[in-house]
Amino acid sequence: MRKEQDLEIFYEGLNALGISLSDAQMEQFLLYYNLLVEKNKVMNLTAIINFDSVVRKHFIDSLCLVKAMPDLGSMKVLDLGTGAGFPGVPLKIMFPDIELMLLDSTKKKLRFLDIVIEKLNLSKSSTIHGRAEDIAKIPEYREQFDLCVSRAVADLSVLVEYSLPFVKVGGTFVAYKSDDIVEELDIASTAINLLGGKTDRVLKFTLPGGDDGRSLICIGKRNTSPDAYPRKPGVAPREPLK
Ligand code: SAH
Repeated sequence: MRKEQDLEIFYEGLNALGISLSDAQMEQFLLYYNLLVEKNKVMNLTAIINFDSVVRKHFIDSLCLVKAMPDLGSMKVLDLGTGAGFPGVPLKIMFPDIELMLLDSTKKKLRFLDIVIEKLNLSKSSTIHGRAEDIAKIPEYREQFDLCVSRAVADLSVLVEYSLPFVKVGGTFVAYKSDDIVEELDIASTAINLLGGKTDRVLKFTLPGGDDGRSLICIGKRNTSPDAYPRKPGVAPREPLK
């Protein structure tokens, strides 16, 4: 068990976001960290593994969504390109009532997340293997989510083609980005329109505990996405909509 002083950075980050965790939620984060470190010995899940760095750059960074959406209630949430579970798993720990789906094209990462779901006892959580371009065509998943989140997966113009088809009309897509996004946003405006979205808010801030710039790009889904999108796997990054 970690001592209180080890958790200082975590508490500072949570304070900066104006949130607090119960002891049980804190235990879930610590267990998640231990599972991550253990599994990272045999597969490449994360480049950072030092406790304070994981807390700041993975846990707190994931939770920064509260700046844009203070409570997720019982929303149905998709984490697209979740990797080792970011931002989806921290959001699920913070908001236990959400229904969470973790999507990734790398099966091994999802096997890790199946273990995380089991060991952390996460309810209403599942993993789905495949490329977003294929899964978004399946009626069971298309336009079914209140919220789609995604961090470090692709440029915004590509990302909206992957993500907006999953979001219900009236729902939201939030892209986690660094601070340097003016050009990316500009290039993505055609794709956002085409896919039925509208940029509602761009929130800029620094990640608590340092000077790393962050942006949350919040795109509201106004209209149904045309059936033609997303295009076949690999097409969007090669020929981004513009
Ligand atoms: N969101 C995590 C992981 C980022 S790495 C984090 O921020 O730490 C990008 C992840 O997206 C990888 O795990 C990769 O397998 C996945 N990915 C990339 N393109 C994808 C696609 N088209 N469909 C599904 N997953 C994809």
